[in-house]
Amino acid sequence: MAHSLRNILILATVIPAVLTIPTTDSSSPTSLRPRAIRPQPERATGLFRRLRNALIERIWSIPDTCHTHKLSPAPSASRAPENFRARYGGDVVLRFQVNTEDEAKALSEAVNILYLDIWEATTKWVDIRIANDVVPSFIGLLPASLRDSYTPLMHDLARAVYETYPESSPAEETSLTPGLTTLHDWRAGRGTPEDLFFQDYQPLSVLYPWLRLIASMFPSHASLISLGLSAEGRDIPALRVGARPDNVPNDSDKSRPTLLIVGGSHSREWISVSTTAYIAYNLVTRYGQPHSPYVTKLLDHFDVVFVPVLNPDGYEYTWTTDRLWRKNRQPTSLPFCPGVDLGRSFPFGWDGFGDTDNPCSDSYAGPAPLAATEAQILYDWARNETEHNNVTFVSFLDLHSYSQQVLYPYSYTCDVDPPNLEDLEEVAFGLAKSFRLTNGHYYGAESACQGGISFQDQTKKTSVQAEAQGGSALDYFYHDLHVKLSFQIKLRDTGNYGFLLPRSHIVPTGDEAYEAVVGLGRWLLGDHGIESIDDRDSVWGVEIATSGSQDTEVAHEEDKTSSAAENDESFYDDSDFELRRRRRR
Ligand SMILES: [Zn+2]
Repeated sequence: MAHSLRNILILATVIPAVLTIPTTDSSSPTSLRPRAIRPQPERATGLFRRLRNALIERIWSIPDTCHTHKLSPAPSASRAPENFRARYGGDVVLRFQVNTEDEAKALSEAVNILYLDIWEATTKWVDIRIANDVVPSFIGLLPASLRDSYTPLMHDLARAVYETYPESSPAEETSLTPGLTTLHDWRAGRGTPEDLFFQDYQPLSVLYPWLRLIASMFPSHASLISLGLSAEGRDIPALRVGARPDNVPNDSDKSRPTLLIVGGSHSREWISVSTTAYIAYNLVTRYGQPHSPYVTKLLDHFDVVFVPVLNPDGYEYTWTTDRLWRKNRQPTSLPFCPGVDLGRSFPFGWDGFGDTDNPCSDSYAGPAPLAATEAQILYDWARNETEHNNVTFVSFLDLHSYSQQVLYPYSYTCDVDPPNLEDLEEVAFGLAKSFRLTNGHYYGAESACQGGISFQDQTKKTSVQAEAQGGSALDYFYHDLHVKLSFQIKLRDTGNYGFLLPRSHIVPTGDEAYEAVVGLGRWLLGDHGIESIDDRDSVWGVEIATSGSQDTEVAHEEDKTSSAAENDESFYDDSDFELRRRRRR
């Protein structure tokens, strides 16, 4: 029964004995937002307890008067509170259209001179966060052709920041458990845990007990491990998901093929944390279900290790102090500029002597390779798994945001092609196709070297990097650990909200990423000879418009949150992929 597992999980959430509180951060504050608007401070476990209590109250029809945790009167939806306005109100995010190589270089230089925060960059545009009163000096550094080629992205940055925190919506309390009003509803499976957990972004004080809960409820195929401790001493937890058939003993000499999925390297990219948890949740709960044969087959033959938040210190900091923090939180040589960028810290192609040698930069690479504690932890753990734990990593997905792109190696240079470029291209375009077919949001696929400020000419023959991109986890796993299918995936959106993606995108983004991972699993099953697949294209989903799809496990949830066709100009444009496929044949 499809709902039985979910019911068990709901039951578990109402049994306090199952719950444990994280040991490392139980005293740390959970949210800048509630503290800012509430007269009473709340304990660290407040959100998790509230989710659980909401269930208890609904299930046993406890009247509303028993609420002891009512929100204070909701703030006006039209304005962010003063403390948000003070911190973010003077900033804007500008999108520059880059049309020539010289423009890309000039933009990069100006950004470096003023230590500006590059939010995201593609070969077509660059988004830069900048204080309003610095705009004139910045524009003055740019060539004339760039001075008119920018547009502001968000009209009210402070409000966009404010609205990403839970509890900013007055309707939140009632929408936590939609449709779950009686015990009968609960038995019928309405109102599932994902409705609660994935309704909002979650702080560590909710995420960590939730991970323990999932592991404790599904011991046959899920276990919680720790990669190590962050710079500030927080656990970096990981969920290992996978089941071995009875005829394969655990101590078999045969190494276990394993996929690694990492989120939360950059702390402000909250959607990467929720999406990693969402994929994990769906694989764990769908294993063994008759309507999910591919999930069962995947987990019988492969392990999948999920690291939802590689940078817990930075993530916690985005909840308590600065929503737009990117790096980790370890001290540097400059006391007023802490933090090393995990995306520049890995040893392969490390380029800390280039643009990224200043501790005050958001892309600071640290004084040496692996200077970032959390990068060292992941590096050591992955090496140990490979060398001493009989693990072979067959794929690595590094989840980031934003720009809706599937990027393949290398990121450190455009001058060197990876040896298995054709496979990388095939799988990258397949992953992008799965993303697109799920909700109709276009995802591109290209080499990661084009991810920084770069320029690609019209014929797509030459690419120029104007910004250092070395030291990525992507290049390290691909080159040093020989993980042949390594990708960095930038999730939603394409700039309407950037890092401040509203909570309504959590489930649809999770759905499209889940479908992509199932597609990758099927591709791997075929590639390993476990499953015979006649048409390898079909593993990524079939382009049919009817809801009566043959793929019954795919719950193509309609994405009501935005108009895909409106946002994504390349909607249903798969011509790139088809061209490349033809070229191969
Ligand atoms: Zn990132």
